[in-house]
Amino acid sequence: MTEPLFFCDVCGKPIGRQEMVGRCIVCGKLACKKCGGMCSKCGRTLCQQHATIQQGIWYCQQDVPPPPPKKGCFIVTATLGYSAQERLGDFYWFRDTVLAKNRIGHVFIKAYYTISPSIARIITTYIKLQTFSRRLIVEPIGRIIRIFRNRDRVRVVSLKK
Ligand SMILES: [Zn+2]
Ligand SMILES: [Zn+2]
Ligand SMILES: [Zn+2]
Repeated sequence: MTEPLFFCDVCGKPIGRQEMVGRCIVCGKLACKKCGGMCSKCGRTLCQQHATIQQGIWYCQQDVPPPPPKKGCFIVTATLGYSAQERLGDFYWFRDTVLAKNRIGHVFIKAYYTISPSIARIITTYIKLQTFSRRLIVEPIGRIIRIFRNRDRVRVVSLKK
């Protein structure tokens, strides 16, 4: 039996050269294959503790991909508050079935998610604006979408017949 060459600084187990991934770039701990890994972008060694693991892929602090944008409807939520949940269904339906299916819609979605968080913040800050936004923007649009959606439902039903 050959003597182990190193000890993993993370789990404390003796490791051979083959089972070693190297020293973590953050804490300098020597890590075995189970306790360490490599950043998928820059290839530098990280221990489990200092790596960000997303869906099994390792990233160092600098290479962590930005979080995906929240797919909420900021303006609707800000305007309607807690009662937004039930209404949101209509808006999501509109986004996913109508807008997402054409290029202009895609551009609109992207632009919307870029500007709407700031608009939503303004709306929640000024309650008066909240009423204004609800009466003049969210409710009328919601009504129009519902008409579209109901028409779509009717079509689906009649197609099934
Ligand atoms: Zn280990
Ligand atoms: Zn570390
Ligand atoms: Zn990296």
